[in-house]
Amino acid sequence: MKTLSALENEVLVLAPTGRDADAAARVLQQEGIDAISIASLSELCTRLKNPAGAVLIAEEALTIENAQEFKDALSNQEPWSNLPVILMTSQAERVFTTEQIIATFGTGSSISLLERPFRIVTLLASVRVALQAREKQYLVRTLLQEQAKALQKRDEFLSIASHELKTPITTLKLQVQMRKRFLKKGDSSVLSPDKVISLIDTTEAQVNRLSHLVEDMLDSSRIVNGKLTLNCQKITLAQLVQEVVEGFSAQFQAAGSIVELHLDDHVTGIWDRYRIEQVIANIFNNAIKYGKGKPITITVQSQGEKAILTVKDQGIGIAPENLERVFQRFERAVDGSSISGLGLGLYICRQILDLHQGHIRVESTLDKGSSFTVELPAYVEKEAYATR
Ligand code: ADP
Repeated sequence: MKTLSALENEVLVLAPTGRDADAAARVLQQEGIDAISIASLSELCTRLKNPAGAVLIAEEALTIENAQEFKDALSNQEPWSNLPVILMTSQAERVFTTEQIIATFGTGSSISLLERPFRIVTLLASVRVALQAREKQYLVRTLLQEQAKALQKRDEFLSIASHELKTPITTLKLQVQMRKRFLKKGDSSVLSPDKVISLIDTTEAQVNRLSHLVEDMLDSSRIVNGKLTLNCQKITLAQLVQEVVEGFSAQFQAAGSIVELHLDDHVTGIWDRYRIEQVIANIFNNAIKYGKGKPITITVQSQGEKAILTVKDQGIGIAPENLERVFQRFERAVDGSSISGLGLGLYICRQILDLHQGHIRVESTLDKGSSFTVELPAYVEKEAYATR
């Protein structure tokens, strides 16, 4: 739970005279409880607009009229809040009985009674119980805030995801309609092999985009449900990186990014080929999306028993406060509309690497570029161990 502010733990003390209130507040303070004496019921009601831990109030301070004011101040609390009120009662005959006071506040309020005369230890125990109850309420508040944030994130995700899915579907629909029109007209030029191949290429690109989006969503839910498993084999990292670079060559070219490779062929590991390929592809994809068409440097090397892949771009970069956040689910560090994405890629990368006992991190400067580093446990030959 986040640390509470000073006011959130403060006990507000209202007694018939200022002196009594001061004395009670002092007793609490001596025991390390944050307490403050309040001069009047109106001041108490004003203070209740700010956070408070509990209220300690003598029944003489309440009258039929001002009890309503106090009740209104209490009912203005947020839904999670039920401020503990300790009412110091006495057996003396009164015009306004304790029962009437309780009836005024109703059973929903958190009022407890402390009959005078009481021992200091009893007062302290009552106040501590009230503050503990308040802490539980703060916990509920935190949970509700987190829940609201998660729901907002989910709604944002659903809206981004539907937008992302709709774009390729709309393009596919248009392509199909166009082709149907051409075919109906019997225009033979649109059926030339070159034209057909180019149409199939664009369709394939849209279908690939759709299938990547859906795969990312499925992976994300596999991770949440602990169902992402690995199928490991011995892999040469440079070879795999080279293959993915080749697969991406058209995209690097379309973006205008020149790729510089520094690949050590000796770095191997026992990894899940499909999943590590997915990690590499994700980082390349981002280097293209956020790299502003500038050069991209890809390095594979080993450091001790670690295999290291670094992908460095010179693009838009990431602000310092977002460096960790971008690895979380649905988190993005760009305006929703500017560059498309679901905010799942780096989250999935981190989870895949965690499963491999590896890691991914980023160093970045806004408007200068980012450098993503993947660390994986390297395969070390047994003989190499023996000669060390
Ligand atoms: P997506 O790209 O779909 O939004 P990712 O999880 O792959 O999701 O990335 C999360 C966020 O990290 C991106 O939205 C972007 O803000 C930031 N990011 C990732 N890679 C880069 C990069 N190479 N340069 C700048 N920002 C990046």
